[in-house]
Amino acid sequence: MSALRGLILAAADSPRLQRFVQRYGFRLGAARFVAGETLDDAVLVLRRLNESGLLTNTTLLGEGVRDEAETRTVVAAYREVLDRIHAEGLRTNVALKLTHLGLTIDEEVARRNVAELVEHAAERGNFVRIDMEESRHVEATLRIYRALREAGHENLGAVLQAYLFRAEDDLAALLPLAPNLRLVKGAYLEPPEVAYPRKSDVDAAYVRLLEAALTGAGFTAVATHDETLIEHAISFAQEHGIPKERFQFQMLYGVRPRLQLDLVRRGFDVLVATPYGPEWYRYLMRRLAERPANLLFLLRNLVRG
Ligand SMILES: Cc1cc2nc3c(=O)[nH]c(=O)nc-3n(C[C@H](O)[C@H](O)[C@H](O)COP(=O)(O)OP(=O)(O)OC[C@H]3O[C@@H](n4cnc5c(N)ncnc54)[C@H](O)[C@@H]3O)c2cc1C
Repeated sequence: MSALRGLILAAADSPRLQRFVQRYGFRLGAARFVAGETLDDAVLVLRRLNESGLLTNTTLLGEGVRDEAETRTVVAAYREVLDRIHAEGLRTNVALKLTHLGLTIDEEVARRNVAELVEHAAERGNFVRIDMEESRHVEATLRIYRALREAGHENLGAVLQAYLFRAEDDLAALLPLAPNLRLVKGAYLEPPEVAYPRKSDVDAAYVRLLEAALTGAGFTAVATHDETLIEHAISFAQEHGIPKERFQFQMLYGVRPRLQLDLVRRGFDVLVATPYGPEWYRYLMRRLAERPANLLFLLRNLVRG
């Protein structure tokens, strides 16, 4: 991991920085990565993306909730999101974080909350993906995913992070479920005991996961902006006769928008992860850490006032 990336992720914990960014950040440039602070804002963006041929998901930003009552508010908000997607006829599904739904309080609270949302989504023909967070949550997250799949819920997916040493074993254990998996490189600050520190190792691990997922049963969401990996996925799928319906590309709102549309023009499904909500601070910090040049973008806006 680059020193700057580590520094940005570590600095994100500073309450002073959080106050400053929270106060000025949206105006300064958070709007590039976040579809707005309200569901109404997000719906406008989601519709526009859909109209340009892109699939979308949305997330009510927030994580690390420590109060059970608050998790119920989050569940209610997601029920409303699913109802609204249905009413508006959007091609949008939902991605959520288990620590937003109570994972740090009690695994059972998170499991119940996500089960309720998965059911609500199924009644509206929709799909829920459980994002993957810090490595300390991986075990419980995969346990919940597996429990819900074994309980008969088909409309949910999970995420594997290539930077984690354990990811390949996790994939092998999940493949018999014919899972819907999103593959990512990984966005958190992880110690070298659990994750590859070097980018080249992460990229190589991503290729191994990608090939194993594509040739296994299930559906693969290739979530990266890395063109080399994207082209590898395309040629690997062609060489192995893997139909386009078995995978899609996923990218983040505000990142490589031209590449997103180019892939659509080439006939691939592309989903744009389009989060919204007032709690965008940690999400923005991860986006800055991934590409420190984004800091310059924010600073330029600051200078321009
Ligand atoms: C749809 C989606 C869902 C995700 N879900 C999760 C998750 O559940 N858990 C998790 O840990 N991580 C998640 N991530 C983040 C992921 O782990 C990476 O941190 C992120 O995608 C950057 O890595 P990359 O694969 O794009 O490759 P990189 O090698 O980091 O980047 C490749 C190129 O993409 C561009 N790029 C990458 N990031 C940015 C950025 N922030 N701003 C501008 N340009 C950029 C640059 O041109 C860069 O050269 C998700 C990513 C996507 C796209």
